[in-house]
Order: sequence, then structure tokens, then C-alpha cells
Amino acid sequence: MDEYDYRVGILGATGAVGQTFVRLLDDHPWFTVTAVAASERSAGRPYRDAANWLSGQPIPSSVASLEVQLAEPEAMDCDFVFSALDSSVAGEIEAAFARAGLPVVSNAKNYRQHDRVPLLIPEVNPGHLSLIDAQSWSSEGFIVTNPNCSTTGLICGLHPLMDAFAPEAVQVTMLQALSGAGYPGVSSLDAVGNVVPYIGGEEEKLATEPRKILGSLKGDRVVPADLTLSAQCTRVPVRDGHVACASIRFRGDVGAEAVADALRTFEAPAVTESLPSRPDPFVQVLDAPDAPQPQRHVEAGGGMTVSVGRVQDCPVNDVKLVLLSHNTVRGAAGGAILNAELLASEGYLDRARADAAADPATT
Ligand code: NAP
Repeated sequence: MDEYDYRVGILGATGAVGQTFVRLLDDHPWFTVTAVAASERSAGRPYRDAANWLSGQPIPSSVASLEVQLAEPEAMDCDFVFSALDSSVAGEIEAAFARAGLPVVSNAKNYRQHDRVPLLIPEVNPGHLSLIDAQSWSSEGFIVTNPNCSTTGLICGLHPLMDAFAPEAVQVTMLQALSGAGYPGVSSLDAVGNVVPYIGGEEEKLATEPRKILGSLKGDRVVPADLTLSAQCTRVPVRDGHVACASIRFRGDVGAEAVADALRTFEAPAVTESLPSRPDPFVQVLDAPDAPQPQRHVEAGGGMTVSVGRVQDCPVNDVKLVLLSHNTVRGAAGGAILNAELLASEGYLDRARADAAADPATT
């Protein structure tokens, strides 16, 4: 396996996704957390006091004592940053870091639809990384995003079907976990024993993000995939794990058996083989009639494997199935770490570091 050694900063380190970064990066073979940042509320305090730590495992000791910084490039001693910032502030802060010459690997929605910003899942569209070459924040700084947590699970199930079967339309009902709303998130009186059939902005993201991710690269633009999506998003009283109940219409004659077979035999592109966070398998197909379930399957592949079950012929469209993905791991911090690993192995992080060394004024 290749060896890399990068110092990493986390923006929004105290939130639900920020904490997942801290947890997943503990003992990472390539990345060491050297800086954490959050809002004025947290800045100046040791991380162990500023973060309302949600995991049952202790805070990694190397991070617990770091002082939380303001999210300003000059305050962060690192080679690149992960962003788990609230979207109300991510736009300006991420651009400031990119302008200052630091690569930004973001979870926030702000730049996902920017023409020159990859909306990346390494096993699906690694070629979209070349959009970075057309970015102009600075010669070294750039921004890469990962999709919305509900888009991620759906795409992992659709991508293995794209080339062989040409899906035409997807209707999906999302059952989304509480951790997807961050911390403290949904009020307990709204959440317990209830289903809330509205999550602001989610249905729009599910209608647009898959088309960019599954789209084809033409020069320095992505031509969106020719796919119609209709989504209904609900919040359900589950801690972690988004469930997608999807029904797919194909351009040709396709049945459940062929779809299950394509999902089972899918192999991720070779460019992802050496990435430490790449799950194996990418997608697991479960045959039990009551699978997948968040309680039983959300941790598959360390939270990076997407589980699929209930693959059946559909009398309305062609095939229906149920997908489960871990929203704060595969759908957020774990997906972003995999993105950064691809950036490292494809030389983008080294290039940024070499350029910054040649021009020390930028960071
Ligand atoms: P969260 O728990 O509310 O955390 C938000 C973070 O942003 C906190 O660290 C907060 O710091 C920081 N922040 C807020 N205002 C700031 C400011 N003015 N300057 C610097 N930092 C500031 O939210 P989350 O669920 O972790 O989500 C983080 C991002 O990831 C969001 O953009 C979200 O849409 C996206 N995302 C979330 C999920 C998920 O499943 N939760 C999945 C995919 C993507 P303080 O603690 O100091 O306030």
C-alpha cells in the first residue's frame, strides 16, 4: 500500500459529522489531525470541553487536548482541511481556505452544484477529479465535495446498473435517521414515536445531485445523466442509517434477478484499490426477507458498505428494492475521507503541498 503523511484540519469539528471525522481519523495510516475549528462559541477551549461527544468510545487523546480554533486559514496548522461546517457559513469559509491555498474536502452542500467542483464518490466517478484543474480559487487551493447523505446510498445502488441497464426514472421514499439533522437536531417531542414527512431541501438535492454524479465529463464540465428522479423524504426515529425504498424504470426489459446479479458482481474501479477506507464489498445484497435494517446492517464495512435487499419485480415500474447506508459515515465523514484518499493517491494533495512550499505566502 502507498504511504502518505498529511496533517489534517477539521472545520466544524464539534458537530455530529465533525466528531465522526475525529473518530474515523484516529490511527488513519495517511492522515493525522493537527487542527480543529468551530464557531466562536467553541474557539479557545480544549476540544474535550467544546465538543458534546456523542460516541460511546472515548475522544482520541491526540485530539482531546487540541485547542479549538476559529475557522480561519491562518489559525489552522495543516496541509488540507475537511469541512463539516453548517451550510449557513460553509460557503464563505470554504472559499477563504481555498483562496489561501488549502485543499478543502467538504460535506456541506454549498459547492456541490458548482460547475468546476467534483461531487465525488470514488467508486462511481473518480474521473470527475479533473474538474479541479479548472478551479481558480488559487493555484494550490481547491474544493471537492461529497453528496448529500441520502443521495450517497441511492447512487451506490444505481451506479452498478447504469452501463448495463440504462435506468430511465427512479421514484424513492427516504426514511432518514435523526443523526442526519446534526446535534441537537430534531426536538425529542417531534422525533419520538413519530414520522415527519418534510426535511428542508432534501427532495431537491435527491432530484439533482444523482444526475451530476452519474453524468459524463465533457471537457471541464459535467453533462448530467438523463435520469428522472422523484423523492419523498421523511425523518424517522432511527439513530443512524438512511433507508431508501426505490422503484426503478429502465429503458429496456430488466428484471429483479438481473439487477441483484449486477449489484452482487460490481467491482469498484482499480484506481480505488489502494485506498484504506474503501469498503469491500461496495454494495452487499442481502437475501433475508426482512433485510436491510438500520439496527442490524448499518455498520457493514465499518459503515462504508451499502446494504441492499427486497430486490423484486415492480408492477408499476420495473424493479423495486430497499437500500440502507450509514448517513454520517458513508454519507458524510467516511465518504469525505475516501475522497481525500483518492486525492492523495492521484497526486492532488502533493501538488498542492509542493505549490504552497514554492509560494509560502499562500498559507
Ligand atoms: P452540526 O452538528 O450542527 O455541526 C455544525 C458544525 O458547524 C459545528 O461544529 C459548529 O460549531 C460549526 N459552526 C457553526 N457555525 C459556525 C461558524 N460561524 N464558524 C465556524 N464553525 C461554525 O451539523 P452536522 O450534522 O455535523 O453537519 C455538518 C455539515 O455536514 C452540514 O453542512 C450538513 O448539511 C452536512 N452533512 C451532514 C450529514 C449528517 O448525516 N449529519 C450528512 C451529510 C452532510 P459549534 O459547535 O461551535 O457551534
